[in-house]
Formats: sequence, C-alpha cells, structure tokens
Amino acid sequence: MTALLMKLPKMKKISDIQREKFLTQGRTIPKCVNHGCDNDCAFRNWGNWSFKSECSSCMTARKTNRFNLRDGKKYITRRGKETGVVIHKKDYCENHNGELGFICGWNRDNWIGFESGLDLDHLDGDHDNNIPENVKTYCKLCHGRKSIMEGDCSSHKGSARKFNDL
Ligand SMILES: [Zn+2]
Ligand SMILES: [Zn+2]
Repeated sequence: MTALLMKLPKMKKISDIQREKFLTQGRTIPKCVNHGCDNDCAFRNWGNWSFKSECSSCMTARKTNRFNLRDGKKYITRRGKETGVVIHKKDYCENHNGELGFICGWNRDNWIGFESGLDLDHLDGDHDNNIPENVKTYCKLCHGRKSIMEGDCSSHKGSARKFNDL
C-alpha cells in the first residue's frame, strides 16, 4: 500500500483532474469531424470541457499544408502518401451567402493569406454534435456576430443565462 502511494506523482495537473472527471461521468470525447478520421477531437479547454472539431493530427496536417489538393478537396498525406482523410474546413467563410441571416462583409475569394481569420463553429452550439453538417467554417466577424445574436435571442444558452442573472 505504502509503496503504491509512493509511486503516485506529487501533484496532478488541473487539466488531468478535469479530464478524469469528464471521463468518469460517462461522457465521451467527440470524434474528429474530418471524413475518414476516427480520432478523438483535440480539447480546447478541459475546464469547461470544450473541444475543437478536429483531432490534433488533422489540425497539424492542415496547418502545415500536408495534403494534396484535388477537385477543391484537401486529402491529408503522411510521408507523401494519402491517408484517406479529407479536411472538412473550408478556405472561405460559409456565410458568404448570408445563411446566418446577415451577409459576410468579406469576399468569398479573398481569404488566401488570411486563413487564420476562419474558425470552425458548431451551428447549433453543441460541441458534442460534431457531425460534418453541424460544423461550419465562419470568419471571426461572422462567428462573433452569430454568438451575440444567440446570446440575445436564446434564454437557455449558457451565455444568455449569465446575462439574465445580472
Ligand atoms: Zn482527424
Ligand atoms: Zn464571414
């Protein structure tokens, strides 16, 4: 018993404790949104159990341009060979057509060189609902405006509740 305790690390990282709590509650980590990928999503913040839409390896491949571009689709490669995984994230803001109820102020074709201004967003706000249809590419401006609209209009959103409690 004593020997076992000795082996335990003196301090646990907060993120490890929060991760354990998440898993012991029977919750599961959503799967990477990319077609052909079955990895767990990378976490954004264990504190509020917020996840990214992609796994860390897909994210790295996308950011380091490790893919073949064909017919407008990005096929991830490993050591030069395609892995069968296709990147879901778009190179433009999907609100260029006004699908959020207002039109993006930036031209759809002008995002080259400004890709860091594009976010992956869960359409319904539910991080666990990580299916491709629910994961959209919106620019930071549209994403921000969408969040404000949701906070103002919906009384059951966490952000709105915070507001109502003031
Ligand atoms: Zn992935
Ligand atoms: Zn936009």
